[in-house]
Amino acid sequence: MTSAGIDQARSLVQGAQGIAVLTGAGISTDSGIPDFRGPKGLWTRDPDAEKYSSIDFYLSDPELRVRAWQFRLSNPVLVAQPNAGHSALVALEHSGKLQRLVTQNIDGLHLAAGTSPELLTEAHGNTREAVCTSCTWRGPMSETLDRVRAGEADPACSECGGILKSATVFFGQSLDPACVQAAFDAAASCDLLVCLGSTLAVYPVAEMVPIALGEGTPVLIVNAERTEFDESALVLRGSLSELLPEIFSGLSES
Ligand code: NAD
Repeated sequence: MTSAGIDQARSLVQGAQGIAVLTGAGISTDSGIPDFRGPKGLWTRDPDAEKYSSIDFYLSDPELRVRAWQFRLSNPVLVAQPNAGHSALVALEHSGKLQRLVTQNIDGLHLAAGTSPELLTEAHGNTREAVCTSCTWRGPMSETLDRVRAGEADPACSECGGILKSATVFFGQSLDPACVQAAFDAAASCDLLVCLGSTLAVYPVAEMVPIALGEGTPVLIVNAERTEFDESALVLRGSLSELLPEIFSGLSES
């Protein structure tokens, strides 16, 4: 990355008053959580892993659920810590310029880094909780994982006996409409949209980009590989944990 690109990105950030940020799996790879579609992505290496988050396969295949619970037990999300990229977004918040942080990630690392829950939209849910697919039961994931460790290969809901899953939005499920609205509202009202570590191929959240562009709002993309919207944005290629501290450095606290 040339210093000219970083300077341009910094001046966009410094000139903005209300910044909306969209983060994808790429912001957490330096915390040891693989993305799905990158060169070392989970699905790139094991195409079957996609089924663990597909609601139809999950509900219809008890063997798949047993494998999914074993996968959750060894999921790097359980031990991952925020990296310098997550921390740089906390610094952006402290400058008073962060209007909303929308994440497609389910790892909870923005909260762990110190992002305020009021400013955060976890559009695809989280792995902190388990939910029942038949009733309204929900509880800490750690307690359900303890049941798996104790020998229940596919633990059932303690209220109704239904199938349990993580509190993440699976393929084939709808996103919470309030989360989608918050993401779209932020894209429509911000004066800079910053997209980090996402292929921008996962909808409806990726719709934030055309919404912002439609308002004439500049878009800054930082990603290791090309994205769907590179032609319409200022693009920086490289590692987020290295670039974000540089881009957001020197912002005064509000
Ligand atoms: P993606 O896997 O489609 O794309 C990630 C992008 O980030 C890739 O283009 C990759 O080149 C880039 N990238 C990876 N590491 C990077 C780094 N250190 N610096 C800069 N760029 C980097 O991810 P997506 O578009 O966010 O969508 C995948 C879906 O998978 C999302 O819905 C998300 O919920 C889910 N997911 C979440 C996690 C997580 O919570 N950490 C991990 C994997 C997948």
